[in-house]
Parts: sequence; structure tokens; C-alpha cells
Amino acid sequence: MTKPNIKDLSRKELEEWLTQRREPLYRASQVQRWLFQKGALSFSEMTDLSGELRSAMEEAFSISRLRVVHKSQSKDGTVKFLFGLADTLNIESVLIPETKRLTLCISTQAGCGFGCSFCATAQMGLKRNLRASEILDQILEARRSVALDRRITHVVLMGMGEPLANYPQTLKALEIMTDASGGIGISPRRITVSTVGLVPQIKRLMEETRVNLAVSLHATTDDLRSQMMPVNRKYPLAELIKCCRSLPVPKRRRITFEYVLLRGINHSPEDARRLGQLLKGIRCKINLIPFNPHSGSSYQRPTQEEVLQFQNSLHAQGYQVNVREPRGDDIQAACGQLQTETKTVQGSKFDVGHRTLNIALNG
Ligand code: SAH
Repeated sequence: MTKPNIKDLSRKELEEWLTQRREPLYRASQVQRWLFQKGALSFSEMTDLSGELRSAMEEAFSISRLRVVHKSQSKDGTVKFLFGLADTLNIESVLIPETKRLTLCISTQAGCGFGCSFCATAQMGLKRNLRASEILDQILEARRSVALDRRITHVVLMGMGEPLANYPQTLKALEIMTDASGGIGISPRRITVSTVGLVPQIKRLMEETRVNLAVSLHATTDDLRSQMMPVNRKYPLAELIKCCRSLPVPKRRRITFEYVLLRGINHSPEDARRLGQLLKGIRCKINLIPFNPHSGSSYQRPTQEEVLQFQNSLHAQGYQVNVREPRGDDIQAACGQLQTETKTVQGSKFDVGHRTLNIALNG
């Protein structure tokens, strides 16, 4: 039988294990600092622990590491990692450098089961939920490849999968991610969870964490939203918006509404007006995401002028509206382009483009 991975233990679970061995509680953060802050890959590295405890841990647990199957770099500096999980499935993470930020976009599921019509990951279907350790290891592994003078400042759960459909593991990962004493220590203000709109889990997330919420809205009528996002049949717009209205959003924070712009489909003047109406009174900002094309979809990105028109109309209604730049779209790393079928790994997808780099494999 394989040993459980120690990175899958919450602080509390690790404390319980240590207590049974008559160790003091503070050992838990000591061990977690080795795992999550110093990136230890073996128990023997943990030199401030007794030899006896180290061998007991060695006997009881394993320490995971993701395999970097491929790493490609966009001409805009964005880096896409293809990580291999222990069971041969692959997932992707995207590191996005900006002037003052270094944002890592991570996955919470291998594939996705929500079937949004415009998303590349949807075409894979759901393979499985990621474990907390697999969510966290994406940060640890990306961190290893970052230059010493840079730190990952922001994490967004916007990669493959639906974080809130994998709620327990996502929550556990968020706890360790935000724990400054023994975990990775990223402030919850710098973490954003993006969801397709699972109402009960949104409520739980906002009660149980202090992270930022982004809701994928994408349409202003149930008819269109259900066509684009089948989840709308379960949680239609009125229910989703009502939920957002009632959330305990901390002071000086806002909910982000994401709105993918599909040419000729959801950016008419009426859409802009309805969107303004729908969100009235909610402390929010709107992120417009011009569609990122991928093979297997015939949607198109609107022209710049169409995007501007839509943005201006929302501005005029008093909203803060950002247009999300397509980062890394030349290496299929932009929103909605993540997809890791075996055929694409072995095929030409990762070798297109003159700036795509083949960087060391550590497997
Ligand atoms: N499951 C989460 C995270 C998904 S990815 C969610 O649905 O929010 C993050 C964002 O990218 C979502 O808003 C998603 O709808 C959007 N997206 C998906 N495919 C896209 C595409 N091809 N172009 C632009 N945005 C896309």
C-alpha cells in the first residue's frame, strides 16, 4: 500500500498525528514550514527535528512532487507548465508576470465536467478531482522555477476545473496556502477563486475563507446562459445574483464578475444594459474576457471596437470594467485554452511558435 502524502494533511490532522506520538503541537507548523516554505522533498532534510521523529514520519508518509512534463514560454513572458500527476493524468498551471505582480493560475481538477460551450478544458470532460497536495504542489513547483528575486504574489484558481466542485480539497489547499505560520503564507486578499456559479458552495466559501470571489457570468438571459453554460439550468441567473447580493463581502472588497465576449453573441447594447441592471447595487467589478480561440470551437473574438463599446456602455452605467488581456495565447495558456489530452501533449501543440521553449524536465 502506498503511504499517504503528508502534504494532504491539514494543520489539525498533522497535529493529531503528532499528539499521538507525544510531540508538542508546534511541531506541526515546524514540519509544514519544511514542506511548504522550504520545499523539502525528504524527511531527512528536516534537521531541526529529532532523528526519531523523522524516521517515524518517513515510515508513515510520503512527500509528493509534481513532474514537469513540459514548460513553454510565451513571447509575453507567460509560462505554461504541464504537470504530470502520479496516475499519468496531466494538468496545467500558468505563471503570468506583470510589472508589480507575479500571478500563478492553478488547476483544481483534471479536466472539467461543466461543459461550458466556449471552453477548451470542457472538451476533456472531468477526469478527476485534484487532491489538496496536487493543488498546492503546483505553487511549490512553479516557485522552484522562478528567479530568486521574484516571488509569486497572487494565486488565481482559474486553471482547469471548477474549484467549488472539489470543495473539500480546495478548502484544505486554501487553508495551507493562506497560513503564514506553517503554510505557503499568501494573503487571502491575493487569492481569487473563480466559479461557474455553484450557489451553495459560493456561500460556504465566503463564510469559511477570506479569499476573493470571481463569478463567471457570461450572459444576461437564462436562455443564452443555459446554452453557453449548462450549469445555469441548475442555478439560474436570478438565484445566482440573489446569492451574490447576500454574500458577506469584506469591506473594501468586491466580487468580480467575469464576462467572456463571444462575437455577435453576448455583447449587444441590450446585453450591456441588462448586465448593468442585473448587477445593480452589488459591490463588484466586471472583467471582460475577449474570447480566446482554440481548436474545437468556432466562436470568435469581437473586434477591439466592439469590446470598447461594450466596456464604455458599462462604464456609463457606473461600473468598474477591466478588459483582461489575453496572456500567453500563443502557447495556448490564456483563459479557457487549457487542455491536456495525451494527443495534444505528444502532438504539435507544444511545439508551435518560434518562442516556445523546451525547458528542463525534472521527472
Ligand atoms: N471553472 C471556473 C474557472 C474557469 S477558467 C469558472 O468557470 O469560473 C476562468 C475563466 O475563463 C472563466 O470565467 C471561464 O469561463 C473563462 N473562459 C473559459 N474559456 C474561455 C475562452 N475560450 N476564452 C476566454 N475565457 C474563457
